[in-house]
Amino acid sequence: ALQQISDIAKSRYVRVNTLKFNLESALHELGKQNTLISAKYVVHKDDMVPDLLLLPHAVDLHKHPLVRNGSVFMQGKASSMAAVALQPEPGWEVLDACAAPGNKTVHLAALMRGKGKIIACELNKERIQRLNDTVKLAGAVNVEVLHEDFLNLNPKDPSYSKVRAILLDPSCSGSGTAAVRLDHLLPSHGAGNADVANIDRLRKLQAFQKKALAHALSFPAVERVVYSTCSIHQIENEDVIKAILPLAQSLGFQLATPFPKWPRRGLPVLEGSEHLLRFDPDEDKEGFFISLFVRKSIIGSDAE
Ligand code: SAM
Repeated sequence: ALQQISDIAKSRYVRVNTLKFNLESALHELGKQNTLISAKYVVHKDDMVPDLLLLPHAVDLHKHPLVRNGSVFMQGKASSMAAVALQPEPGWEVLDACAAPGNKTVHLAALMRGKGKIIACELNKERIQRLNDTVKLAGAVNVEVLHEDFLNLNPKDPSYSKVRAILLDPSCSGSGTAAVRLDHLLPSHGAGNADVANIDRLRKLQAFQKKALAHALSFPAVERVVYSTCSIHQIENEDVIKAILPLAQSLGFQLATPFPKWPRRGLPVLEGSEHLLRFDPDEDKEGFFISLFVRKSIIGSDAE
C-alpha cells in the first residue's frame, strides 16, 4: 500500500510549457535524461492533447531541471484536456474561476500564446502564493491573479464585460485522484472508512459547484464554459450538469462535445450525457470529468 501511495508522486505525462520551451526540444531532452527515464525507451507525443508527452513509465520528475525551470509541467492527461476543451483564442479575455495552484491557468496562457488576458481567481489566501509561483515559473505574463470569492464577482462589472471563456474547476471531493482513492490504505485510517459515503460532504460540495456553474454562465459575453472535476461521483458531475442545464439553455448555451474521439462519456442519467467526458480510474488510472457549454459568440455577432 505504501508503495502504491509513493507512486502517486510519479507521473507518466508531462505538458510542455510552450511559453518557454518547444515540443521537439522537450522530446529530445527528456529522451536523453537516462538517469530518470531509461534511454532505451522513447518519449511519445500524446495522440489527443497537443504539447503533452507520454513517458515510457511513471517516474518522479520533481527534481528534473525541465520541471524545476518551468519548461515542462507534470500534469495528467485529463487535467490537460480541460484547458484544451475551452479552446481560448490568443487575445481573448478568459476567467479561471478557481485557479490555484494554477496548472490550468498557465496551460490557458500557453494556449493563448501569452496574448490577451487571464483573470485567475482564487479564494484561499494560502493557495494564492502557490498560484503566483506557478504563474511566475511558467513565464505567463498575461495572468492577473485575483484573491476573491468567485461567487462575489459581479458579472455586470465592466471589468468582466469582455470575458469570453470561463474555466470552472471548483473544489471537489478529489475522489478520482489516486491520493484520495488510496486514502483508506494509510495506517492512520481504518480500512473501509473512506467508503462511509460521506454524502453530507458531497452534497455541500455539490451546492457550491451548482452555484458556481450558474454564476459562470451568467457573465454577459461568455461563450464557452468548461466545468471540470477530479471526482468520480455522479453527484458532483452529471447531477450538477443536469440541474443547471435548463438555466444554461435559457441563456442560449448548449452542451458541446470535448474530444469527440475519447471513448468514455458521461453516465446516461441526462439527455446529452454523450457530450460529457469521463476518465475512469480503472481504465485510465485517474477519475476526471469534463463538460463544455457553448453559445454563439455575442462579441462576434455584435462588434465584428
Ligand atoms: N484549476 C486548478 C489547477 O488546475 O491547478 C485546481 C483548482 S482546485 C480543484 C479548486 C480551487 O478552488 C482551490 O484552490 C480552492 O481554494 C478554490 N476555491 C474554492 N472555492 C472558491 C471560490 N468560492 N472562489 C474562488 N476559488 C475557490
